[in-house]
Amino acid sequence: MPCCSHLTWSTNEFKEWAHQAQGVLPMQSTLPRAYLILVGYLTDGRQEDKEKSVDGCLYLKDSTGIIPCELLHFELEWLESLFLFPSWSYIPQTEQSTAGYVEILVDPVPVNLPEEVPDSIPVTYPAPAEPLLSSRIPCKKKSKLTVAGELARLGPRLSICQKTFFFLFLKCFTSAVWVPVLVQKPNQMAWHHSLRLGHRYTITGLSISSLKKSGHRIFVASASSCLLPYCAEQARELPLDSTWQGEYTQSSSLETAEQLSNSLELGVEGERPGSTKESKIISYEGTVTKVLNVQAGLFLLDNKVCLCLAYQQLLNSARGLRPGACVELIDVHLLQKPLISFPFIVLGACLSSMVVLKSFSRLSTPYQPPASSGNLYLQLLFRYNLGMPVYLWLVSLLETFEERFSCFFGRRRLLLSSTHQNPGAAEKFVVPLLQAVVPDREKARDIYNEILAKMHQCPLQKYLTLNPPCQAPSLSAVCRVAEQKSWEGFSPSQLLSPLEAQHMGSQELNRRLTWSYCTLSAESFQPRLILLGVLRVSSRSGSLQLQDKSSALPCVISHKDGSPFAHTALIGSLLQVENYQLVVERFLQTDFPSWKQLANLEHVREKKNSVYVQFYFEDAQILRAAEGQIQKALRSGSRSSFSSRKKDELETPKAKMMKLEDPKPDARRDENCQKGQSTAGTTSCVSHLFLVTQKEALMLRNYQLPREEDGEGQDLQQSFQATVLWLGRPRLWSHPTETGSLPELEETSCDGEEGTTRQEALLIFMGKSLRWFPFLHLDGLYRFIVPCCSDLEVFDKLCFPPVPAKILSRSSCPLCLPVQDTWHLQHETWISCLSEHQLAARSVLRGMNQRISSIPEVLSNSFTGSLVSFSGEIVERTLCASLKNEKPSVTLGLQKQKGSPLASDHSVKLSVSVAPGSPVVMDIYIAATYLQHLWGLLPGAKIFFQNLERKISRFHNVYCTYIASSCVTILSLPPSHLPSPSSLAGETSSPSLVFISNLQPHLSQARVLCHLSCVLTLSLQWVCSLCSSIFKEGRCTRPSPPCPSHTGVRQASARVLVEDGTGEAFVLCRNQHVAAMLGLNLLEWEALQNCVQNRGRVSIQHGEATGTGCVEEPEDFVACYLRSLCRSPLICRPILLDFSLDRKPSKILQPAPLQLRNFRCGEVEFVSQVGPRLSLLCLNVEEVEQGALSYLNSERIKRTSSHC
Ligand SMILES: [Zn+2]
Ligand SMILES: [Zn+2]
Repeated sequence: MPCCSHLTWSTNEFKEWAHQAQGVLPMQSTLPRAYLILVGYLTDGRQEDKEKSVDGCLYLKDSTGIIPCELLHFELEWLESLFLFPSWSYIPQTEQSTAGYVEILVDPVPVNLPEEVPDSIPVTYPAPAEPLLSSRIPCKKKSKLTVAGELARLGPRLSICQKTFFFLFLKCFTSAVWVPVLVQKPNQMAWHHSLRLGHRYTITGLSISSLKKSGHRIFVASASSCLLPYCAEQARELPLDSTWQGEYTQSSSLETAEQLSNSLELGVEGERPGSTKESKIISYEGTVTKVLNVQAGLFLLDNKVCLCLAYQQLLNSARGLRPGACVELIDVHLLQKPLISFPFIVLGACLSSMVVLKSFSRLSTPYQPPASSGNLYLQLLFRYNLGMPVYLWLVSLLETFEERFSCFFGRRRLLLSSTHQNPGAAEKFVVPLLQAVVPDREKARDIYNEILAKMHQCPLQKYLTLNPPCQAPSLSAVCRVAEQKSWEGFSPSQLLSPLEAQHMGSQELNRRLTWSYCTLSAESFQPRLILLGVLRVSSRSGSLQLQDKSSALPCVISHKDGSPFAHTALIGSLLQVENYQLVVERFLQTDFPSWKQLANLEHVREKKNSVYVQFYFEDAQILRAAEGQIQKALRSGSRSSFSSRKKDELETPKAKMMKLEDPKPDARRDENCQKGQSTAGTTSCVSHLFLVTQKEALMLRNYQLPREEDGEGQDLQQSFQATVLWLGRPRLWSHPTETGSLPELEETSCDGEEGTTRQEALLIFMGKSLRWFPFLHLDGLYRFIVPCCSDLEVFDKLCFPPVPAKILSRSSCPLCLPVQDTWHLQHETWISCLSEHQLAARSVLRGMNQRISSIPEVLSNSFTGSLVSFSGEIVERTLCASLKNEKPSVTLGLQKQKGSPLASDHSVKLSVSVAPGSPVVMDIYIAATYLQHLWGLLPGAKIFFQNLERKISRFHNVYCTYIASSCVTILSLPPSHLPSPSSLAGETSSPSLVFISNLQPHLSQARVLCHLSCVLTLSLQWVCSLCSSIFKEGRCTRPSPPCPSHTGVRQASARVLVEDGTGEAFVLCRNQHVAAMLGLNLLEWEALQNCVQNRGRVSIQHGEATGTGCVEEPEDFVACYLRSLCRSPLICRPILLDFSLDRKPSKILQPAPLQLRNFRCGEVEFVSQVGPRLSLLCLNVEEVEQGALSYLNSERIKRTSSHC
C-alpha cells in the first residue's frame, strides 16, 4: 500500500499539503496518511553485499531488512548513521508486490551525532588548476591535489562494462573557469546524492589523468578522496600563479518556462519540413503529469512536453519520477516535432544535461521500475546511436508490439533482448527496420566528448523531422483503415460500365452492385503497413487467422510453387508479412431505380464489408516460432484431465461424444483427473500415418451423434469430412518430437500384407477439430498424434459404423472416425514428394488418386463423370440470382446464417479459364451459404476445384456447381497488379480469329472476321426499370396494378446474320452493340433512342413490307428510317465480331446434313458446304478498315492454305 507519514503535522497541515497536490492532477488521489515511525540507518549498500558493486542508490536499513530510498537533500556524513524520519512516503512497485522504495520528504533527525569534519585543508581553485589540465606536461604520478569550487554541473551516473561513474564540474568562485572531475570509486557513488548545484565543495586526493580515446585531461577522484563542503575559514589557498583568466563562458543559458513557450511559438513559425533543424538548449522546470513509457525513459511534463531521459542511460531507476513530482531540467535539448506522429514537444536530456528532482509527488501514483537489465529500448538506442526522431519511432513500434502480443507470449519473453545469438521477437521485428533507416550506422556515440568537450556535441543537437517509413498497427486498426480506404472515393458507378448500366433494369442493376471487392497492398497505406499476427485457426469458422490482442484477421496462405499450405507446426507462431494482399469484400444493399440515380447515395441502404488478407508463405517471416504443440498438449494434458478423459472415452465412446459438445466443466471428470494422473501419467503418445484421398466442404451437416435420450432436437453440426487411407499401423512414440522418416511406409513395403495395413476411414471433424480444415489437403500424408496415450488401438476403438444412412448405402463403406479435440495433426509430406525407396509403398496407394481433368475435357460432350476436379484461373466473379433448382436443402432452415453478408438466395458464378486469356471458360456456381468458408475466390486467383458436380443446361451448356462433397484449394494468389476490367475486355483477351465452321462447342469466346449479311429483327424500346413493362411518355404502362415507377430504361436488341465464307451464324446483339452493328455513332444512337421514348417500342422485321408492321403506323418515321437503314447496302459490310456461343448446337440436331450455299466475295460468287447455322451472342463489334481488311484476308488465306 502506498502511504505517507508526517509525524509532526496536524490534520489541517496534512489536508493543506494534500490539497496543493491535487491542483496538478485532479483525477489522482493523494497518498493516504499512515501514523508510523520510521527509524533506520542510511547506507549506500556497501556493507550489505561485498560482492555486489555499489549501484549508487541509497538505502534505509535496520536489522530486519533494507529498502531503497530517495532523498532530495543528502549529506555524506549521514551515511551509516541512525536516523528518525519524520516525514516520508512509501511507494510500492506496480507489478510485483515486492519491495518498493521510500521517498524521504523532510531531512531526517539524527539519533546519534555524526562525526566532526576535519579542519584546515590546503586547496587549489579551478582557475589556477585548469591550466594543469590543458598543459601537456605529465604530472608526477604521486602528486595529489585538493580542488575547491562551486558545483557548476553534475553529470548523470553512467554504467559501462559494469563500472559505475559520473563526472562533476567545479567552477571558480570568481570566474567561469571550470574543471571536470571523474568519480568512479564505488564508495564515492553516494556523492551523487549529496552534490547540489551552486554549492561550494572541496575534493581532496585528486590526480590528473587523460582519457585514452579522446585525450581529454581530467581530475580523477582516488580511493582516498573526500568530498567536503567548502568552508572559507578552513581553506587556505595553495599559491599557484593565478593570473590566467579564462575567456570561456558557458554557452548554455538558463531560460525560464516562459521563455520556453516563446521559443516554441517562434519555432513553429520558422519550421521548414525536410530540413535539418538545430535543437535549442534550454532549462525548464515542470511537474511530471504522466509516465509515458518508463522503459523508454519518456515522461510527460505539465501535460505538454515530453521529457526523454533515455540518452542518460540509467534513468536513476526512475525513482521519484512519479506523476506529481517536480523536476528541474538544466541544459536540455528542445526538439519540436521530431516525429510526425508524436504529439508532444520533446525535451531531450543528454549527458551534459542535468535532471534535478525538486520535490516528491504527494499523489498516490504508482512506481513502475524500468527493467534493470535487458532494456531493449536503451540497448537499441545505444547500439545504433539513434537520434531522437528514430528513437521515438522505435518506441512507438515497440509499444504497439508489446501491447498487441504480450498476452500471447508474455511481456518479458517478447521484449527480451538481446543476446545477438538469439534475439527476441521484438528485436527480430525492429532491427531490420532500424537498419533501413540508419543505414550507415552513424559513428558510435562518444560519451566522453559529449560530457567534456567545450563545444557541445551530442546526438540531440541536430534532427530532421521523421516521417515514419512504415507502421505496424493493431489488427483492429488495420481492418478499420482498410475498410475506410475501400469506401473512400467509392461510388457505385465505378462498378459498372456506363454503356451497360444504362440498359439495366433496377433489379439487375442493384444485384450487380451487391458484391465487389478491393485489394490493398502494404504500399496502399501511408506509411507502408506491415502486418504482424499470431497464426491461429478459428475452430468456429475453420479459417486461418492472424491474431493480436485487438482482433483477428482471416488469412489465406499459399505457397509460391502452388502446393497447398499445410504447416500445422506454425500454429501459434508470430508472423510478419510485408508483401500481402489485403482484400476488402464490399457488400451493398441498394435500391437504385436506374443508372441515372447512381450518383445519389441515398439509394445505398446498407454497407457492409469483410476484410481478410492473403499472402505467400514464402513472404512471411517467423518472428517467434510456436512452442511445440504436442509438448504443450502433453504438459497441459498431464496437468488437466486429459489422461483420465481418454480412459473414459475408451470405455464408453458415446459418452465422450457427448462431452465433445459439452464445454462445461464436469466435477466427476475432475475427480477422475486426480485418479488418472497417478495411473496413466504417461508422456508417450500414439501416432498413425494416413493419406488424404478426399476432402469435403465445411458446412452444416446432419450428423446425429448418439446422445442421451433427453429429447433434445438434433442440431446440424458445423463439420467437414475427409476420406483417408491409413498407412501402416499405429505407433507408440516415447518422444513426441521423434519424426523425420516415415517408418510406416517402409513397413508397408516390406510385409506387403495390404489386408492388414491398408484401410480406408472417413474422418469426421467437428467442434474444436474443425481447426484442421485449412491444413488438410488432398494427397497429403499426415499423422494423427494422440498425446498421453499408450493404447495402440485407440483409433479402432473410436470408430463406429456410419450413422447417416446415405453413407451406409455406399458400397465401399468406410469406417467413421470422429476426430477428437485433443488429437494433434501433423503434416508429413506430399505423396508426390515420396522418395524412391518409399515408392514401393506408393504402389499400395495406386488407384487411390482421384482423376483430375482439364477444363476442356470437362466441357467436352464426350465427358461422362458427374463429379469433376480441375484447376483453373478465375476470370470473372459475378453474383446472380440463385438457380432455383440448385438450392441445397440445408440452406432452407438457415436463411439468416451468421457471417454471410450475402443473401442466401444469391449464388456466385465463377468463370474459370485454363490460362489467362484463354477463350475456354467454365462457369461454376456456388451457393451463398458455402461462401462464408471460402476465402480468396478472386479474379486472377488460380484454384483447384475438387468434386464439383458437372451439369448440362437446357441449352446444352456445361457448367459446374459446388456441392457438399466439393472443396477448393487456392494454388496461387491473383497477381498484385491485376489489369483493370476494361483493359481485360480490350487488349488482353482479344482472341485470335476463328472460322465459323471451326467453332468448337466448348469455345466460350472468340473473334471472327465476317460479313454482315442482313438484319433479321431490330427492336428499340423503353421498359420500366421496376417491372419491365413498356415505358411510354414518362410512365409505366402496366395496367394493373398500376406501377409507381418513374424511371424508364432503354433497351435495344437485334438479330443479324453473318457469314465468313465457311459458314453462317445468327448473332444476337443487345443495347450498345446494336448501334455498332447498325454503324450509328453515339449521337445518332442517342437521338434515335430519344425518338422511341414517346412511342414506347419500335420494332421491325426483315422482309416485312412497309405498312404490314403490327404496332407502328405506316407513316411512323422512326420505323421507316430503321427499315431503310437495315435495307441499305451500306449496312452489309465486313466487321470484326467478338462473340460467345449463345446456345450450343443441340445434341439431337448435331448430325445435321451439310448444306450447299452461295456466297459472294466481291465480284466472285462461290458455293460452299456449310453446317447448321450457329447462334452467337455479340460481345463487341469493330469496323474493319480497308488496309486491315486486306491484311486480315491475306492472313486468312495463308492459314487456310496451310490447313489444306
Ligand atoms: Zn546535448
Ligand atoms: Zn412498371
